[in-house]
Amino acid sequence: MADFQDKTLVCRDCGKDFVWTSGEQKFFSEKGFTNPPTRCPDDRKKNKEQRKSTRVMTTINCKKCGKQGEVPFLPKDPNDILCSDCFYEERAAQKGLADNTVTPPAPSEKPQSEPEETPADEPVNPE
Ligand SMILES: [Zn+2]
Ligand SMILES: [Zn+2]
Repeated sequence: MADFQDKTLVCRDCGKDFVWTSGEQKFFSEKGFTNPPTRCPDDRKKNKEQRKSTRVMTTINCKKCGKQGEVPFLPKDPNDILCSDCFYEERAAQKGLADNTVTPPAPSEKPQSEPEETPADEPVNPE
């Protein structure tokens, strides 16, 4: 069995030194990984968490209306991108839906203080 010794590596993300412990090295070799980690444990954790959160918002300038907006992905060409409003418009147009019945993307959270319409509770007298 190979004898592992703690190694000091430099994190790719924060540039800080971190210790690649013998235990981790053993783990890596058992998993068949040949490359040492490129990030310190902190950044590895951050990276994992970032990947878990699916939404990566990118700020864009809409090529149609010029409005600044956000899209939940990384556009291939940042100059060839539509804001969500225009995107839905275009999509509706492509579908041949000439009318403006496209619903905008629903907000993730509804305001709690929305007044509810209470039906009138008066007895109805016929005649
Ligand atoms: Zn780091
Ligand atoms: Zn737009």
